[in-house]
Amino acid sequence: MKKLFLTFTIVLFSLFIHQISCAMDKLKVAASFYPLTHFAQQVGKNHVEVINIIPAGVEPHDFEPTPKDIKKIWSANVFIFNGADFDSWVEKIRVDLKKKGILTINMAEQFELFKSVEEEHRHIHGKFDPHIWLDPILVIQEIKIIREVFIKADPRNTEAYRKNCDEYIEKLTVLHRKFEEGLKSCKIRDIVVSHNAFCYLAKRYDLNVLALSGLSPDEEPSPRRMGEIVKMARKRKIDYVFFETLVTPKIAQTIAREIGAKTLVLNPIEGLTDREIKKSKNYVSVMEENLRNLRQALSCN
Ligand code: ZN
Repeated sequence: MKKLFLTFTIVLFSLFIHQISCAMDKLKVAASFYPLTHFAQQVGKNHVEVINIIPAGVEPHDFEPTPKDIKKIWSANVFIFNGADFDSWVEKIRVDLKKKGILTINMAEQFELFKSVEEEHRHIHGKFDPHIWLDPILVIQEIKIIREVFIKADPRNTEAYRKNCDEYIEKLTVLHRKFEEGLKSCKIRDIVVSHNAFCYLAKRYDLNVLALSGLSPDEEPSPRRMGEIVKMARKRKIDYVFFETLVTPKIAQTIAREIGAKTLVLNPIEGLTDREIKKSKNYVSVMEENLRNLRQALSCN
């Protein structure tokens, strides 16, 4: 009996040691905001430990990291950020990232970006539109980029990263087909949104965006812009005006009242709220909600 107990203890102890060493072995990844954190988790699964820098429910366009956040980045092997002035605070730490030998992905740098349309927004939010993660096809490219960097940082798990990446590509492809199919025959092809985050999505599925404000959601639209949108929305017989979850729906509601339309959520997935996380929502499920609301707003068959 004593012997059995000893064997049992040894087995337990070695399991414990194994778990510790596994935890230490994991590739440490920091990502600037929710979608990149989620994509990194999908590619890395149990071989990575991913830290999200911009917390749940915070609108990322005007986020500033604390010294504690920066410390988290310093402890990572890989750091992923969006770029194109979306997470512009990264600029301040870029030189140090290089010095510390942290493999860094500037996502936007790898894509051909849309130019920011309105002159007046350019000096505030950069010359280019950063919202690439709202097009599932571009996300497939993003996760391939993440896969290559993970393989470089941690070649022992090459096979796992490839397999996980393929599995997620499969899910994104299904999502893309649902969008393609779901938005193929809609009576309306114009979407009125409060913040101009949906140009990549709209281009992919052949929609037109009428944006009330610029590339940042807290930007107040000018009275002239409001007037233009009201006129266009009336002419194009818009039934719904979209608002988003992380900022106040006030502007969208004002416009909706003005043109006799209703409001619906179109989520730019710049971060999930605590409530959304508790409900186990994720990139794909929120995109599917977006599709349902688009189909309702645009009278699609
Ligand atoms: Zn945005």
